[in-house]
Amino acid sequence: MRDPRYDVLFEPVPIGPVTARNRFYQVPHCNGMGHRDPTAHAFMRGTKAEGGWAVVCTEEVEIHHTTELSPYIEGRIWDDADVPAHARLVEKVHEHGALAGIELTHSGIFAANLWTRRAPLGAGHLPVSGTSPVQARRMSLDDIGDLRRWHRQAVARSLAAGYDLVYVYAGHGLTTLQHFLSRRFNDRTDGYGGSLENRARLLREVLEDTLDEVDGRAAVACRLCVDELVGAAGLERGEIEEVLGLVGELPDLWDFMVGDWDFDSLTARFGDEGSQEPYVRGLKQLTSKPVVGVGRFTSPDTMVRMVTDGVLDLIGAARPSIADPFLPRKIEEGRFEDIRECIGCNVCVTGDFTITPIRCTQNPSMGEEWRRGWHPERMRPKTSDAKVLVVGAGPAGLEAAMSLGRRGYDVVLAEATDALGGRVAREARLPGLATWIRVVDYRRGQLDRLPNVELALGSRLDAAEVLAYDFDHVAVATGARWRRDGVGRWHQRPVALGDVELLTPDDLIAGARPSGRRVVLYDDDHYYLGGVLAELLVAEGCQVTLVTPEARVSAWTENTMEQHRVQRRLLGLGVELRVTEAVTGTAPGSVRTACTYSDAERELACDALVLVTARLPEDGLADALGVALADRGDGPTVELVGDAYAPGTIAAAVWDGRRYAEELDEPTASGDTPPFRREIVALAPLADG
Ligand code: ADP
Ligand code: SF4
Repeated sequence: MRDPRYDVLFEPVPIGPVTARNRFYQVPHCNGMGHRDPTAHAFMRGTKAEGGWAVVCTEEVEIHHTTELSPYIEGRIWDDADVPAHARLVEKVHEHGALAGIELTHSGIFAANLWTRRAPLGAGHLPVSGTSPVQARRMSLDDIGDLRRWHRQAVARSLAAGYDLVYVYAGHGLTTLQHFLSRRFNDRTDGYGGSLENRARLLREVLEDTLDEVDGRAAVACRLCVDELVGAAGLERGEIEEVLGLVGELPDLWDFMVGDWDFDSLTARFGDEGSQEPYVRGLKQLTSKPVVGVGRFTSPDTMVRMVTDGVLDLIGAARPSIADPFLPRKIEEGRFEDIRECIGCNVCVTGDFTITPIRCTQNPSMGEEWRRGWHPERMRPKTSDAKVLVVGAGPAGLEAAMSLGRRGYDVVLAEATDALGGRVAREARLPGLATWIRVVDYRRGQLDRLPNVELALGSRLDAAEVLAYDFDHVAVATGARWRRDGVGRWHQRPVALGDVELLTPDDLIAGARPSGRRVVLYDDDHYYLGGVLAELLVAEGCQVTLVTPEARVSAWTENTMEQHRVQRRLLGLGVELRVTEAVTGTAPGSVRTACTYSDAERELACDALVLVTARLPEDGLADALGVALADRGDGPTVELVGDAYAPGTIAAAVWDGRRYAEELDEPTASGDTPPFRREIVALAPLADG
C-alpha cells in the first residue's frame, strides 16, 4: 500500500484543459524507432502509460519536410500520411488512462536535411551542427510566416491524431525557436533580432498560434532551455526570467531544461540525481502555470522534495521511465524494492545515436515490447517442468536466473565467487561507476523473493559436477577475460609485448598495481573503461600516458554524450593523451608506438603497460560439457549466454540473459527467419498518381 509520505506524488495536476492523473510525467525522449518503427514505438509508450505515468510524450517530431533530421530516426508529422502512426501511439497511451503529448520541432540549423536535400532555414546564415557541408539560410519574413503556418498545420494534425498535449519546443539547442531567442545564434537586425523582446517574438507568435489552433482541445506545453551554459554569450537565468515576464502565462505548462542534451541527460559519472535543480529553482514562482523538469529522479523522497519545495509540479523523467516503465505504480503500491533504478549510463541514448531501437542496461524489454512481445514486469509462464542450471552470476546469469524464476522454472544459479554481480560488482567500484551496482541490487532483491531459484555461491563448477546433477538445461554465463596480447581493433594478430610489465583491466580491478609510477594505458576498446582506469591510476599517484588509435579518447562514449567530458576530465587530471597512435611493441623500460596515419614511431619510457583492448569469452566449461555430452549421447541442453558467448556491453549481457529465459522451451524459429516482428515499408503503386 501507498506510504502517505508519497501521497503528494499522486495528486492530479490540471494542465490547461486536461488533467494529469498524478505528477509522473514522461518528458519527450528519443528512441531510435520513431517514424521507421511506428508500432514498436506506440507499444513502448503504451507500456509507460500502463506503468502509471500520467503524461507520456513522443520524441521530437519534425513538423515539415524542410526540417528533417536524417539519418537520425525521430518522429514525423509532415502531412496527413503521418497521422495514422501517431493515432496508434495515442491509442496505446490512452488505453492505459494517460495523456499523450507530442513534441513538435522545427530544427533549423540542427537539421541538415540530408534526405530532402533542401537547404535548411534558420535564424541566421550558419553552418548546420556537426560537420555536414551544409549551411542554413537566414529566414526571411516570408519564411517566418511559412514556419508559423507549418507549425499550425502540424498542431492541427496532432489534434487529428488525438494528442492531449502539444509542445512548442525551444530547448536543447535543437530548435529554431531557441535559436531565435538566443544571442548565440540570432544576429538579426529585423523585428526578430536585437532586444530580448524581439528575439522572443517568434516564440510568442508560435505559442499564440498554437493556443489558437488547439482552441481548448488540448494543452499547450513549452519546453524551454533556461540556461545554455555558455555564460553571457547565450541564454542565462536573467534573460529567462525576462522571457517568463513576457510569455510566462501563455502556455498551459512549462517544461524547463538546462544546457544541451548532454547536460539534460548527464550520466552518473558526471552528475548526480537532481543536478538541474539549482538552475530551475525559483522559476516556477514566475508563472502561475504548472512546471515540469527532470533530474534522473529515481528516489521518491527527492521527488516529494521537488514538489514540497516548490521547484516542480510534475516529476519529469526520460531515463527513469526507460529503466522502469512501472516506477509510478511501484511507488503507489509501496513496492520500493521492485524499482529498477536507472544507473545513468546513457546506453539508452546510444539507440538514437546509432539509429537503432532504444535499449537499456536495466530494462532489457525496452524497445522489445511489440517486436518480441517482452514486458518489463510480466513473463509467460513456463511450459515444462524442466530444471535449469545457470552457471555464473554476472549480469547475464542474474537476468537469466531471475527471468526463468519468474516464468516458474526450478533454477539453480551457481557462482564461483562469494558475490553476485560478476563484472558489474567489480566495475562499480571504479571511479564514477558506483550507481552501476543497481544492476545487481535489483536482481538480488528479486531473486530473494523467488523460492524456486536457489543460489549456490562459492561454487566453481566443472563439467563433471554440472553433469552429476539432473538438469534439463544449462546456461553457461561465465563471462570473459581481457586479452594480454595486444589484439583488439588495431591489431588482429598478437603483438610481442613481453619487455615491460603488462596489466589488463582484470588485473587492476582485482587489485594488482604497476610496480613503478610511469604507466602507458593503451585503449583500443574505445568505450568507458580505458578512461576510467586512467582516472583510477592517476588518483593513486601514477603518471599516465593514454595511447589510442582513435582521434579522441573513449571515442565510443560520443554515443553516450560523455566523450567531451571524459577528454576534459583526463586533461584536467594531467593524463598525457596520445591519439591516433597504436602500441606496436616494447623494449626494456619502454613502449613503442606508431602513428596510425604516418607510421612514424616513438618510444615512450614507462614502468608498465595497461592493455584495454579486447576480451576472450570464458567458454571452457561449455566446451568441456560439449565433449562430455558427445561421449554420453544424452544430457542437458547447453547454451552460452552473455559475455561467455561474445563479450559486449553490460546491457547486451542482461538482454541475452532475458533472451535465453524467453526462448527456453519455446518452439523457436529455426533461425532461418527473424524471431521478431518488424514493419515493412508499404510499396507505392507503380502507376503515376
Ligand atoms: P556476463 O557479463 O556475461 O554476465 P560476468 O563476467 O560478469 O559475465 O560474470 C560471469 C560470472 O561467472 C562471474 O561472476 C564468475 O565468477 C562466474 N563464473 C565463471 N566461471 C564459473 C564456473 N565455472 N562456475 C561458476 N561460476 C563461474
Ligand atoms: Fe538509465 Fe542506462 Fe537504462 Fe538509460 S540505459 S535508462 S541511463 S539504466
